[in-house]
Amino acid sequence: MKHVSAKDRKMIQDIESMIGPDPRELGFVKNLFAGRFREDLIFPYPRESRGEREKCDRLLIELEAYLKNEHPAILIDQEEYVPDWCFERLFALGVMGMTVPEVYGGLGLGVTSYNRVLELIGSYCGSTAVIVSAHQSIGCKAIMLFGTEEQKTRWLPLVSRTFLSAFCLSEPDVGSDAAGQRTRCELSADGEYYILSGEKKWSTSGALAGVFTVMAQQEYVEPATGKKREGVTALICTPDMAGIDIIQNNRSKTGIRGTWQARIRFQDVRVPRENLLHLEGKGLNVALTCLNFGRCTLSAGVIGAARRAMNQSVKWAQTRYQFERPLAEFELVQQKIARMSALTYTMESLLYMMTGMLDRQDRDIMVETAITKVFSSHMGWEVIDDAMQIMGGEGYMTENELDRIWRDNRIHRIVEGSNEVMQSFIFAYGGKQIAEQMMGIQQALAWDKEDSVMENVARILGNSMKGYLMRKAIPLGAELFLGIRSARPALRSVHPLLAAYADRLATMTQRHAYYFKMASKWNREEIVKRQAVQARLADNAIYLFALSAALSRMDSQIRGGDYGLGYERDKAALAHAFDLFEQTFYRNIGELRHNTDVSMRKASDAARRYNDSLPNSDFYIPESSPTAAGTGKTPPVEHVKQFPGGTDATGGDGALGEAPAKEFKV
Ligand SMILES: Cc1cc2nc3c(=O)[nH]c(=O)nc-3n(C[C@H](O)[C@H](O)[C@H](O)COP(=O)(O)OP(=O)(O)OC[C@H]3O[C@@H](n4cnc5c(N)ncnc54)[C@H](O)[C@@H]3O)c2cc1C
Repeated sequence: MKHVSAKDRKMIQDIESMIGPDPRELGFVKNLFAGRFREDLIFPYPRESRGEREKCDRLLIELEAYLKNEHPAILIDQEEYVPDWCFERLFALGVMGMTVPEVYGGLGLGVTSYNRVLELIGSYCGSTAVIVSAHQSIGCKAIMLFGTEEQKTRWLPLVSRTFLSAFCLSEPDVGSDAAGQRTRCELSADGEYYILSGEKKWSTSGALAGVFTVMAQQEYVEPATGKKREGVTALICTPDMAGIDIIQNNRSKTGIRGTWQARIRFQDVRVPRENLLHLEGKGLNVALTCLNFGRCTLSAGVIGAARRAMNQSVKWAQTRYQFERPLAEFELVQQKIARMSALTYTMESLLYMMTGMLDRQDRDIMVETAITKVFSSHMGWEVIDDAMQIMGGEGYMTENELDRIWRDNRIHRIVEGSNEVMQSFIFAYGGKQIAEQMMGIQQALAWDKEDSVMENVARILGNSMKGYLMRKAIPLGAELFLGIRSARPALRSVHPLLAAYADRLATMTQRHAYYFKMASKWNREEIVKRQAVQARLADNAIYLFALSAALSRMDSQIRGGDYGLGYERDKAALAHAFDLFEQTFYRNIGELRHNTDVSMRKASDAARRYNDSLPNSDFYIPESSPTAAGTGKTPPVEHVKQFPGGTDATGGDGALGEAPAKEFKV
């Protein structure tokens, strides 16, 4: 701290500790944005109870025997459906109800166990992983979390043993902007029913499911105020309700081809009032809470796939000879192997840190689950893509399975909150409290940089009416206007062998908090629109959380006396992960000031203007575009395997010739 006396510095730091909301109320990542490293949230690395782990281990053994010896992953991909007998096996194993409490007929497993199972399934069959995840993380999760006793008793035994469930949030008009629901419901005059109308799109397993969780916009009366409000309400529906039509069972797609996404029309459907989930107007809460779980299981599936792709490609690199040497002896191949190892170790560490937080019911975890999703879907994809490159032409051949793994795992960057939308979310919610404080300062504090620190402090504290606000403002003012960085957080819990990593992490945390504030100052209100700036800061928060999780995991490995080749691999993976992400972290900070954003915007504007000169009729145009609907080219579907809808439709294009089962024999 240049030009600041030790006394002033001490005062600033004392006040710093008083600022903002109580750190104990905030999750790990929000604390990182404030420059605080909450060791208590990540050390020791979470671990399930012995009983829980053994119970899950038994399921994993049985399940792996099935997946390895019987599960027709290639058929599922090629024929684009999952045979009924596979569903029956999964129900019989308990997989479909593994998180449902035992009293309702499930296995009662915790979140970590659930994700271990999904990781295993993801390593064998991406389609099946998505079906299981859509069923339990989002399809029926709302009933588990928000259902009344009556709803749980009625539905949970069925979703555990008999039929699938589906989650209906997206619509032709509603993708990333989930709050803009067009489907509406209103309470009938007698108060007995909700009348539901609208159309849902892309509901995974919608054509196979026995129950749906449906989100709809509603004008409702807020109980506390008696005022009318607009909000989203979540309802339980069943496909046999009059007015529900499955107008399309599925469409062909790039990957996870065994999953089916339905298009469902609701026309004046009378949904009994007892099917309300949680409260009127709280449906988005319901949906977002479910997505916390979906974002983890999605990650688990990708991670299982990435680990398999890595192991396969390294085996290939060791055994394929070119230029009279194994591929693995070339440095550019080694670079990929090292990166795959570092990313896979970090993804696993992050996922099970996250599931540990969910198992212990940490409350402020939405930014963390978003990070887990973005990191795993992005890095998992990188690993799988590297694996394909290492295998060369053979990697592109269907029977070697990388082709399927590659196609299956592309979707995860798009769904359950696209990664771009999640980056903005991580920035905005991660830094929300700090940003609010800064807004407070801008409104209430005129920090004069011509004055000394003490002059500013004296003047500001003199305003006793605003004492609380001012106490918050001083340390922020010192950072924003004088460039005085707050102290580095201390990391004391880590094993001495890992002290150097802890030191690097502490410095990065301090820098992150500092540059978050500085970027806000440099960009002012514009930052709301500057997504490229937001993404740099969001990515840095992502790397910090991921590296913290990896460090904590290695700490527990060392303390647990881990050894052998697996341990050596992990130790080297951690070292490489730190190098890789630290480098990108500081590059992102540098790019907050020196970047290519100006030319980027110009190039984008010019490309858009040129595009406007091309006729719409040569291109596919969104069906619900407010400006251009109906002006585009018709997609040529005659040679595409499509899946008609309707209750009596066949299960496919005729190749399958079976109506999809709704109830499975267990
Ligand atoms: C195979 C599959 C399964 C699905 N399963 C379900 C399901 O079970 N239930 C369900 O309800 N839905 C489901 N969906 C829908 C899925 O959740 C949506 O595809 C997803 O929300 C993205 O919406 P969109 O496809 O309309 O893309 P859009 O919202 O149109 O986005 C397109 C692109 O624009 C970017 N973008 C959008 N907004 C912003 C922004 N503010 N800032 C920066 N970039 C932005 C996105 O990142 C993305 O790259 C599924 C979809 C697929 C393909």
